[in-house]
Amino acid sequence: MTGKITVVGSGYVGLVAAACLAELGHSVICVDNDLNRVATLQAGGVPIHEQFLPELLQRHRGKRLEFSSSLPDAVAASSVIFIAVGTPPKDNGEADLSYVESVAREIAQNLNGYKVIVEKSTVPVYTNEWIRQVLNLTAGPHADFDVVSNPEFLREGTAVTDFLYPDRIVVGADSERAAELLKGVYAPITNGSYYQNIDRIPEPDSALIPPPLILTTAKSAELIKHASNAFLALKISFINAVANICEGVGADIQQVAKGMGSDSRIGPQFLRAGLGYGGSCFPKDVAAFHAVARECGYEFNLLEEVMRINEDQRTRFLKKIRTALWTLKGKKLGVLGLAFKGKTDDIRESPAIGLIQQLLAEGAHVIAYDPAAMPRTREVLQDKITYADSPYDVADGADALLILTDWEEFAKLDLKHVHKLLRYRIILDGRNLYCKDEMEQYGFIYVSVGRQPVPLRQLARVG
Ligand code: NAD
Repeated sequence: MTGKITVVGSGYVGLVAAACLAELGHSVICVDNDLNRVATLQAGGVPIHEQFLPELLQRHRGKRLEFSSSLPDAVAASSVIFIAVGTPPKDNGEADLSYVESVAREIAQNLNGYKVIVEKSTVPVYTNEWIRQVLNLTAGPHADFDVVSNPEFLREGTAVTDFLYPDRIVVGADSERAAELLKGVYAPITNGSYYQNIDRIPEPDSALIPPPLILTTAKSAELIKHASNAFLALKISFINAVANICEGVGADIQQVAKGMGSDSRIGPQFLRAGLGYGGSCFPKDVAAFHAVARECGYEFNLLEEVMRINEDQRTRFLKKIRTALWTLKGKKLGVLGLAFKGKTDDIRESPAIGLIQQLLAEGAHVIAYDPAAMPRTREVLQDKITYADSPYDVADGADALLILTDWEEFAKLDLKHVHKLLRYRIILDGRNLYCKDEMEQYGFIYVSVGRQPVPLRQLARVG
């Protein structure tokens, strides 16, 4: 029997994990020290944009899922405690583990019997040992607990589905007792019983059912997470570097990526050229993994190059904007997309936000639209930009349209209408959402990534 579960942190990972664990039949307390967030959750609000999350919260809130700001009470009531607080980057690239440490200390002060403390946050190798040390120092040498690493691989935008239909579950446990408890937590997934429920969250097309649970040491599990994210970031930087060669030699990155990705040893995912990776994970995790490697005496220079290419990708796009528009001062630029990728409201390390800040610094006026990320953008950019109600309002009278996030709806615009609305028929597509031929037919100047630009075919000024 698993007993009650506490999840500390109600962010993109903690809240999704808490809701999904309740969906699997567990009784869950989700704790946060952000009192506003807890109040919102208790009152029925949904603080993040994530598919299926509102349904799960509605289904389980007040029944198997409760929200609290009291970690001591939650710890006392639970046998398994997941830590899912932030691990943001420090200036030197290392992960800031102060939130994890403070939670570990508070757990230690409230131990009342055997508990398994689970690292769900992405942390550097050895963090489990530090947590163990904090618990021993705070709770005394006889404290009865284990520390397990259970990294999370969900992607924002498909977080609920990813949690319930994972490719694999990794449990890094150095004690059999703790491993058994964690196996019990995930049993409805690994024995397939969850997938028999009529009202289950629908499975994605390529779900592996049931997924495997990979049991490792705690250190290996910690490394699996950092190495996985670093590898995915490397794949993105690799294809972006190839895209830059395509631009130089007149090849087409989409054809090249398709040809490469059809090789089963390579695979098609993460081979989409664009503005580079962003978000709260890849940038910080690549930097943290680089710092971990250095700490243990290995110079992982490859990761430096991954980060450099990623940074360079935005600079190259800015140059393309300048080339298309000449000077930026006083220009009205329509921006589609603020989130770091489609299907999420998360703007942390978003290439779109970084680019907008540069455009503003050069004197451009920006009018932007995003289906989910405008409230969060307002918190950062305030009224430095204009927020539009639709993609078409963005295009209206703009000197150019910039596509910065890969939202599906941006790939389905009524181009005839956009054509009429734009002051100049210039589209700079940082996500390669459109087919070049189509753009040519409409008479747009179309600049994308890793493909030859569609040049001016006729007078670009409309009306
Ligand atoms: P987040 O910033 O969205 O949420 C963190 C939450 O923890 C916040 O609500 C914060 O108030 C709360 N918190 C901080 N200190 C606390 C404390 N002492 N007590 C209680 N609550 C506290 O972060 P996130 O995106 O959910 O990421 C959490 C961790 O998971 C990070 O290590 C991240 O790298 C990792 N991760 C994130 C993703 C992702 O896609 N976001 C995917 C996999 C792993």
